[in-house]
Formats: sequence, structure tokens, C-alpha cells
Amino acid sequence: MVDLDLLKIIVKKNVDEKRPVLEDIAKYLYENPELGSEEFKAFEKITKVLEEHGFDVEKGVYSMPTAFVASFKGKKDGPKVAVLAEYDALPGVGHGCGHDLIAASAVGAGIAASKAISGLEGEILVIGTPAEEGHGPSGGSKVIMANKGLFDDIEGVIMLHPSTSWGVGNQALGISKCNMVFKGQTSHAAASPHLGRNALNAATLAYMATHMLRQEARRDANLVIHGIITEGGTANNIIPDRAVLDFGVRSSDQDYLEEMVDKVARCGEGAALAMGVEVEITKGRFYSSKKLNYPMIRTLWQNYADLGAPVTDWEESVNRMPMASTDYGDVSQRTPSAGSYIGIAPPGTPGHSIQLAEASMTSEGLDAMIVGTKARGMTLVELLAKPEILKEAKEYFDSN
Ligand SMILES: [Zn+2]
Ligand SMILES: [Zn+2]
Repeated sequence: MVDLDLLKIIVKKNVDEKRPVLEDIAKYLYENPELGSEEFKAFEKITKVLEEHGFDVEKGVYSMPTAFVASFKGKKDGPKVAVLAEYDALPGVGHGCGHDLIAASAVGAGIAASKAISGLEGEILVIGTPAEEGHGPSGGSKVIMANKGLFDDIEGVIMLHPSTSWGVGNQALGISKCNMVFKGQTSHAAASPHLGRNALNAATLAYMATHMLRQEARRDANLVIHGIITEGGTANNIIPDRAVLDFGVRSSDQDYLEEMVDKVARCGEGAALAMGVEVEITKGRFYSSKKLNYPMIRTLWQNYADLGAPVTDWEESVNRMPMASTDYGDVSQRTPSAGSYIGIAPPGTPGHSIQLAEASMTSEGLDAMIVGTKARGMTLVELLAKPEILKEAKEYFDSN
């Protein structure tokens, strides 16, 4: 009979013991911020610590030089459960998204869980996912990994992200791109306007038409359409023969998102027809929305609550309006997973800011990282100790 409470005590104790190592990782990343796909220092640091703690580390997975999969096996083969690490920074604001703490927490959770699974069947993975912010060839690495099938034989994934409040199970918006290139005919804007075909007019019409779509948007699907005109002519006395619109379309409902991207594209087609110009439209999925898994969310939430974290009730979090998008959304579409937010800065602190980066180094930020690390580690062990949770999570995943 497995004593889960004892295993969780082992995890918590190990996280406390390893705190200097974890703080050192966070501090090193904070002081050496690297953009996505270029996180070589962070990659070296993190993989070295995992190897020193007995993890097998596969480096440069799927030809992404700063991606890795580190694994640690229990007493025999069984389900694989994973925590994800992010370690890319932002231009100008360093670790303004707090990924220094995500990396430290993933390493700490993996190591602590590894100390508690000698009697359990299964495997703990720490997966290094570079370039979450989308920079460089490994941009959105979780999407690449998801598409290559990395998560298909992993039965549970636990994520964490720094924030200004505590929550488990918050939604995220899927995002797709829609780019429109209008092509017309130049002509003298005063002497021979009748010989021109104005690409900018078509772009303007398309831009306005997308605004009108919003009136009919499903109110529960959190639709966001944001766009800019990136090209609109070269001189005011020439009728523009080329104009370019670039849109991002977001929704918390993945199917609805696809439907709305088609409607945005239709605005471009209609505007081109009206103005007698050609249009080339490129659509593409960027990040998926999060597929919430209540059995996983409940389990992770309970561990945060048991640790005394001031975490919002999960049933409230899952219904909160989603604010942003993440490549973790694509992971959640592939396998049962749960994400959490840890509060490292006062409410109102902007994301992607120097203030948030600095908050990751305060005692409040580091304390929060430790709590999140314990909660993730405890959840990894709980999933292996109680396979019925993974079974329920899989059933929930398949039926939603
Ligand atoms: Zn970010
Ligand atoms: Zn982030």
C-alpha cells in the first residue's frame, strides 16, 4: 500500500533542501536573459542540474538546439507524467514574463518527485520547451513538439506561470493569423484616377468589415480581433497598387476560432471584389486555446490548497475571462494537463515588464516559486501513485 501523504512529505522536504539550487537557477537566468531559440546558457545550466540528479537528458530534440527531454524512471515502466520548463526572455525587459521561475520550478518539481517514486511504476519527465514567446526557429516549440507527437504517450502534464495572482485551470485564448495582400493598379491620383485600382481602399474596407463582424460574435467565446495595416501606398499622388493587412484572431473556443478566421478572410475577399482588386490571403493557426481537464485541475488545485497558497477556487478560475495565448494550449489539446498561476507581484503589475522581471527575484517571488514547485512535484507523484486519476483524466479528455 502506497502512503501518498508520506511521498508528498518527501517531495516538500526535498524542495526545501534544494531551494538554494533552484534560486541559483532562477538568479542565473535572470542575470543572463536570452531570447527564444538562443537560450544556450539557460539550457546548459538546467540540463546540468538535472543530470547531476540522475536524470537521463535527451538534448536538442526535434532539431531544436535548446530543447530537451529529461526522464527519471520509477521501479518499473508505467505512465509518463511531465512538467514543462520555459526559459526564454524578452527583448528589453529580460525575464519580464517570469520564465526564470518556470525553469527553476520545473527542475525542482522533477527532482523532488524523482526522490519519491522508487516504489512506484512510471516515469517523471522534465521537458525543456524553448522560445515560448515565439522568437527564432524554435518559436512556439510546444506546438512543434505537439505536432511531432511528443505528448501522445505522456499521460499528464503540469504547468506553472508567474502572475499577479494565484489560480489553477485558467483558460487561454487560441490565436490564428490572417494576412491579406491586396494588389491593384497605380495611376496618377489627380490626372488619371479612373485608370487606377486602389488597393488601400480595399484594405480599408476589409478592415472596417472585420469591425462589423464583432457585433455578431458569440459572447461566451471571448473573440478578439486585432489588426494593423502594414503597407498602404508610397506617395499620396499615386493610387496605391499594394496594401497589406495583418490580423490576429483569438478565441477560447478552438472550433469557433477557425470559423471566425474564415469570416475575417471573407471580409478581405468581399472588399477586393467591391474595389476590383486582387487579394491573397494567408491563414494559419498560431497557438491553440487551452483544453481544460477538470480531474487534473482539481488534483493540482488541491495540492496548492494543502500548501496554504492563496489560490482562487478552481471552479471560479475555469470560468474567468482568458487574457492571453500560450503554446501550452497545444499541449493541452493533446493530453490531459493542468496549468497554474503563482502570484509573484502585486495586482496591477503589467505582464512583459521590468517590474515583473524584478518581482521574480524578490523574496515574495521566490517563495511563490517554491510553493508552485512543491505543488507540481506533489501532483506528479500523486498521478503515479493513484493511476485512477490519470484514467479519469483520460476519460474526461476523450469526452470533451
Ligand atoms: Zn510572455
Ligand atoms: Zn510567459
